[in-house]
Amino acid sequence: MSRKITLIPGDGIGPEVALATQRCVDATGVKIDWEVVHAGTDIMEKAGTPLPDNVLESVRRNKVAIKGPVTTPVGSGFRSVNVALRKELDLYACLRPCKLYGGIKSMHPKIDLIIVRENTEDLYAGIEFDAGTSEAKQLVQKIVELNPKAKMHPDPAISIKPISVKGSERIIKFAFETALKYGRKKVTAVHKANIMKCTDGLFLKVGREVAKQYEGRVAFEDRIVDNMCMQLVQRPQDYDVLVLPNLYGDIISDLCAGLIGGLGIAPGANIGGDTALFEATHGSAPKYKGLNKANPTAMILSAVLMLDHIGEKQASQRLENAVAKIIREGKYVTYDLKADRNDPTAVGTSQMADAIIAALK
Ligand code: NAD
Repeated sequence: MSRKITLIPGDGIGPEVALATQRCVDATGVKIDWEVVHAGTDIMEKAGTPLPDNVLESVRRNKVAIKGPVTTPVGSGFRSVNVALRKELDLYACLRPCKLYGGIKSMHPKIDLIIVRENTEDLYAGIEFDAGTSEAKQLVQKIVELNPKAKMHPDPAISIKPISVKGSERIIKFAFETALKYGRKKVTAVHKANIMKCTDGLFLKVGREVAKQYEGRVAFEDRIVDNMCMQLVQRPQDYDVLVLPNLYGDIISDLCAGLIGGLGIAPGANIGGDTALFEATHGSAPKYKGLNKANPTAMILSAVLMLDHIGEKQASQRLENAVAKIIREGKYVTYDLKADRNDPTAVGTSQMADAIIAALK
């Protein structure tokens, strides 16, 4: 019997890497009945919204989805489809493994980190007030009323950073459970509690509480986020599972992607309750749209996580091994995995997928 899974190709390079991924998953022999639904800038004109209702309905129904990247206009325009999906479906945990595959040039011989990013709170909550609006003025007035020491220049724009006990508790538990599931030894909570004593302070306090339930099984420590950046660049091998509030998680994920060969190979999963949506860490890279140039690996490795999630462990392992082989050989890889980015022997998105499929056999 085949399993129904929602496929959202996305926009920019999304449809190309999504097609490559779909072909690789089908080649594992796992029977999947793909329900393709569209979100992003390409559907916006036709549907009047970048996130039509049928997308959410499909993910809610199938409980498992895989998605290509979707563009978010900077500064103005519609709000992020990615953030909306995570919030609407309460996909509170973002899991981003960062593993160094053989054949990739890196400053370090071994990197095998798991990043767990909180997905629903923090500055990503989308509670913002534009400079000069009456709402922002009222808010400033209220803040000064409540805290007479609060100093602000006139007419600031304001973004709110909510961090709750519930939100922190469930993500930190998720990080510990992930550590247990994958036989990891340590969870490091990342924060800026020395400055943001209330919000990040709460995250850290909850972290210390939750850690007590795992004492003797998984170790716990914490790092201030700026120090964490430096440590990750110098000694990533000292870390195991990292758990972070939303914004730091976003930034540190890209930093770690840089350590393991770039955004083209960094996968991810958004998980909450009984629903999971798999997607690469990277965005829609609009400049490469339609050029058959983007690296499909990040989305294919997201599918590796998806196969594991639906219980297809053998197929998941076979697909990861095939990807690892192609990267190690370094022949049929996209431009970003070549030592010289202008190397004319670099292959395109679909040719790299062909090579991965051939390596599966
Ligand atoms: P990006 O990840 O799209 O691209 C940054 C650079 O990384 C690219 O220019 C390219 O050089 C490289 N890159 C990324 N993916 C690659 C791939 N698969 N193969 C080879 N090289 C790759 O980041 P950006 O330019 O900041 O964002 C573009 C758009 O994507 C924005 O609208 C942003 O909001 C959106 N975005 C979406 C998601 C998502 O859908 N989950 C995530 C991040 C960004």
